[in-house]
Amino acid sequence: MTNKYIYFVANWKMFGNLKSLNSLNKVISFLKKFKKNKIKLIYCPPATLLKPLSDKIKTTKIKVGAQNCHENENYGANTGQINSSMLKSVGAKYVILGHSENRHLGEDDNLINLKIKNSIKSGLKIIFCIGESYSQRRKKITKKILLHQISRGLRQIKNKKNIIIAYEPIWAIGSGLIPKDTEIFNIIKFIKKKVKGSKVLYGGSVNTKNINVLKKIDNVDGFLVGGASQNSNNFIDIIKKTFN
Ligand code: PEP
Repeated sequence: MTNKYIYFVANWKMFGNLKSLNSLNKVISFLKKFKKNKIKLIYCPPATLLKPLSDKIKTTKIKVGAQNCHENENYGANTGQINSSMLKSVGAKYVILGHSENRHLGEDDNLINLKIKNSIKSGLKIIFCIGESYSQRRKKITKKILLHQISRGLRQIKNKKNIIIAYEPIWAIGSGLIPKDTEIFNIIKFIKKKVKGSKVLYGGSVNTKNINVLKKIDNVDGFLVGGASQNSNNFIDIIKKTFN
């Protein structure tokens, strides 16, 4: 796993304020000592912290990502919304799209597809989340669900080089549960077969303990980390253990 770049994406969800950015100091000094390793580190804070976080990490290798955006890349009368070009203008290089917490609020594959297309136009890289629910897993239709999400979500997108796929089983998010390593391996193999040349991350309850198992799955290109990324010590520990 150590011969290629490994992604670590911190999804802070709806947590954090200006003070929370101080916790990045530890990560920044850790990275200086860790620079021999091939690592891509992306912080996705709430939209309110995009600009201050971008300013803070300017001289480091850390990149900034947003957690969602409106489907229209132009300005418009959309109260409370933020589009992809606005995200770009405050330093975001990535945007997470298709996260199950937003699918749960009603985002469907067509809407996600529009968001992806327009975010690419704005010059953002996409972290495209897909994953099955627990009942879909029990019905053994995981691959069918993932294929559906991939084919609808990536419809009419020929050049996929700026799309990273994050496989996040819904039942694993925030639950402390993860699939067996062999299952993750097989699902990632399946995704890579369907989307040729794609990078695929695993997300869902990644923590300082299970990373010792997850890091051995050799087709994983990195991790999308929610809860554990909000604590710098834990996040650093996850990164260190991955390369140990
Ligand atoms: C997520 O929601 O993207 C996620 C990975 O969350 P957690 O690590 O907390 O399960």
